[in-house]
Order: sequence, then C-alpha cells, then structure tokens
Amino acid sequence: MAAAKMLIGGEWTDSASEAKIPVVSPFTGKPFADVPKGGREDMRKAIDAAREAFDKGPWPRMTARARGEVYLKAAQLLSQRAPAIAELESRNQGKTIKQAADADIPGAIDNLVFYAGAVRTLDAKSPQEFLGDGTTIFRREPVGVIGSITPWNYPFPMAVWKIGPALVTGNTMVLKPASWTPLSTLELGRAFAEAGLPKGVLNVVTGPGEEVGAELCRHPSVDMVSLTGDTATGKKIMEQGASTVKRLQLELGGKAPFIVFEDADVPAAVEGAIVGGFVNGGQDCTAATRLIVHRSVREKFEKGLLDRVKQIRVGDPASRSTDLGPLVHASHQKRVLEWVEKGKGEGAKLRSGGSGAGGKLQAGAFVVPTVFDQVAPDMQIAQREIFGPVLDILEFEKFDEAVQIANGVEYGLAGSVWSTNVRTALRAANALRFGDVWVNDHLPLGSETPHGGFKQSGFGKDLGADSLLDYTVVKNLYIDLTGQARKGWHYTVYGDPS
Ligand code: NAD
Repeated sequence: MAAAKMLIGGEWTDSASEAKIPVVSPFTGKPFADVPKGGREDMRKAIDAAREAFDKGPWPRMTARARGEVYLKAAQLLSQRAPAIAELESRNQGKTIKQAADADIPGAIDNLVFYAGAVRTLDAKSPQEFLGDGTTIFRREPVGVIGSITPWNYPFPMAVWKIGPALVTGNTMVLKPASWTPLSTLELGRAFAEAGLPKGVLNVVTGPGEEVGAELCRHPSVDMVSLTGDTATGKKIMEQGASTVKRLQLELGGKAPFIVFEDADVPAAVEGAIVGGFVNGGQDCTAATRLIVHRSVREKFEKGLLDRVKQIRVGDPASRSTDLGPLVHASHQKRVLEWVEKGKGEGAKLRSGGSGAGGKLQAGAFVVPTVFDQVAPDMQIAQREIFGPVLDILEFEKFDEAVQIANGVEYGLAGSVWSTNVRTALRAANALRFGDVWVNDHLPLGSETPHGGFKQSGFGKDLGADSLLDYTVVKNLYIDLTGQARKGWHYTVYGDPS
C-alpha cells in the first residue's frame, strides 16, 4: 500500500498524531494507500509556514513573469506525469480513465499555462491627478495567506482552480483536499516543489474538514478562504470565518436546468443531456439534472434519452471502453440510492436504473444511469443536489413557465437552453439566473472562461482572468506633488484659507 505525506513548509511530513486516513478504491471497495490524518496542530504549522512565506519570503516580491516561469515548469513536469496522475485520479475517484486522461488532467495543466500568461496582463488603472495636487495609483496586490478547501468530485482540477489564480498573483496557500481523494493534490504539490516554488508558499494538509478545515477558516493569520464544496459547507465556512472577517470565495452546489424548447434539435438535445447529465457519474456541480422539456417534444426526447441510456457502458473505470464508473465512495452511493427512494416516494416515475450494479461490479460503489419522469418542480429530487447519475424530466408549455421552473431553485451555477430559434434561445439565456449558460450545448468550460455561481451557488470566479481579481486587493496610493507643508485643503480641518 502506498503511503503519502503532507507538504508543510517545504517538508514532506506525517501528522503530529501519526494517525492515517485510508484511501479507498471505489471500484474494489478496498484501501490502496493512506495519507496522514492531519490535526489542528499540523494545520497551525502549515498556516505559520504560509504566513512566513508571505511576510518574509521572496514569492510575493518576485515579478509576475518569474512566478509564471515556475508555473510553466510545474506544468511541464505534470505533463510528463499526466498518464500516471490520470490513472491515480481514476483509481481514487472512480471516474473513467478516458475522462481523467483526455479531459480532467490535461485541462487542468492548461489552466496553469493560462495563468502563467494571464497574470502578466494584470495592470493598474492609469495613474491620474484625480485630486489635483497629487497622483493616485491603484495598485493591485496579493491578499496574503489563502486557505483553500477542495471537494472530491474533480480532485486535481479543483486544486488547480484554487492554486492557479492564487499563487501566480503572489499569495501563499494552505490547501486542504477532500479526505476521500487527496492523492492527486499531493502530486500537484510535488510538481510545484520540484519546479522551484519557494518553501511554505504551497502547503497541503490532509485531514477532516470539521477539524483542519475549520481551523483554516478560523485562524487569524489566514486572510481569505476559498471553498469549492456543498452549499451547506459554504454556510458553515461563512460562520467560521466571521470572527476574523475572512474574505471569501465560495463555489458551491448546483442543480442545473436544461430547457428543451419545442423548436429544439431533439437528437442534439438528447446527446447533450446524456453527456451533461452523466458526466463524472453525475458528480458535477454543473450536471444537467433537471431536463425541462416542452410538452410537444417530451415524448420524442424521452424515448431518445432512454434509448441512449441503455447504451451507456457501466464498468471498471480503468477500461477505455467504460462510460460510467463507480461513484466516489460506498457511503455516497448509499446517499444517492436513498434519493432514488425519496423520488419514488414523492410520486416521480422511475423510467430507468435506480439501483447499484450487480454481478462482477457488486463490490463497486455503482449507481446505474437513472431517469425519472413526471417530476414536479417542487419535489425534493428537483430542488436538491443529488450528485449522482440521476436525471429528472419535467414538462412545460409556456416560455415563462420554463424560465420560472429553471430559476425556481436556490442554486444558480449553470444551465442550458436548447432551441434553433435565436430569439427564443437568447431570451431564455438572458432570463436564467445562473453563472454559466450554454445554448445548444452543456458543460464546455476552459481556462479563459470565468466560472462561478449566482444565488446560493456562491460568489467569486474560478477560471478566467476574472479569478485573478478575486485573489488580489486594490490599494489606493496617493503621492503628493506640491511639496508644501501646509496644503490648500488643510484649513478645512484647522485654521483659515491662506
Ligand atoms: P463538501 O462540502 O462535503 O466538502 C468540500 C470540502 O470541505 C472538503 O475538503 C471537506 O473536508 C471540507 N469541509 C467540510 N466541512 C468543513 C468545515 N466545517 N470547515 C471547513 N472545511 C470543511 O463537498 P463534497 O461533497 O466534497 O463535494 C461536492 C460538492 O461540491 C457539491 O455540492 C458540488 O456541487 C460542489 N462543487 C461545486 C463546484 C463549483 O464550481 N461551484 C465544483 C465542484 C463541486
């Protein structure tokens, strides 16, 4: 069994307690590695290291170009190791090897390359004499020590989405990956260390969220916390960070609408629903979980969808011909199957799936592709995030009804509209209160595209040049040009005008 260590202050270390967290393959249900179970003491050490690196180290004082060069070196090392990292990610998370190797890992490496260049385009607004006697400069500076907390659904990309904009702008960081999926994040730490990142700039602490994550949120030396996770966790983090007035960036849950209008290209919408709904086993915050379909095309769409569902190959995630691997963990599988029961209890009709996989796949945390129809907008399965391969079909008649159903959830992360009429598509896209909206597609995101939620899906952006702004603060700097001891405006405080 492989044993990994945490990265604190440039050293690879065990936890002070020497306790371990087993890392389990969701395909076999067996542990294949372990990582240190970090505690508060370890977290404090990591925060101190990040603080010291920010206050006294070279990193925040280096040029953007020099920091970008470290990124390019790390990206090069990661590219060389990409096949091994993809294998590790697939084994640990359960996602298919084709998704890990052809999308997640190369996509995240490209994010780093993007940030290496994008940071060099950050500029101050043109300095001017706004106040007459002095020049004002708006400086954009790093925030300081960032605490980043990542989820288990896309372990490597989510860690990159946090590290990418944060370190390149001169911050330092303590990163806490989800306990089920810590391995690829440690590989990321290794590549950055080998690429010449100064000690203490990036610290990776593995351990339980309620303990080490909470410490990260509460500690006064941390300037900002960035979380990708559940909306409920986001709320806890806001509370935990309140007493030290933490800056926050929250990328939270979603329940994406997928509206199919009467004039949609139905076969294209079917393909879009399959990939948008079952991507990463449905464990995707942007997954197309609410298929809101016009009454006139509902039957055709549903038939096409159910035909396609039968063709999804469920199996060993390590095989290139598998389309759907196990969910991340047996306890998550249990939770998703409970949601299926809840859906049936609410009166939705199960049209496909709804169970684990039998036979040779029995030991894996599988949920086979599941489709409900006759789902009403206020049912819990249409309101809450299930985070598994479970799709709901809802029906509508009028344009406004579709928009109302789509917006009628607490989330606002992502959604799509399907129509061949440009006016319908654009009117609907504009009316959706979601941070990512696609027309006649669902999912595309790239290094350049800002991604982040409205409403209770959080605030701030991952990806894109906009995310660089989240990790910087503006300093208003004024330089007197008069050289006079007594300035013209001083009489407004004391004395008379001269
Ligand atoms: P989660 O909220 O359970 O855990 C996320 C992280 O928070 C983990 O590292 C966990 O250990 C930590 N954590 C838990 N409690 C904490 C606390 N009290 N203080 C500090 N840290 C704590 O989420 P998950 O189940 O790992 O991931 C799935 C969720 O992530 C879904 O809701 C999904 O929608 C969301 N997500 C959102 C985006 C986005 O871009 N908006 C992207 C991916 C996933």
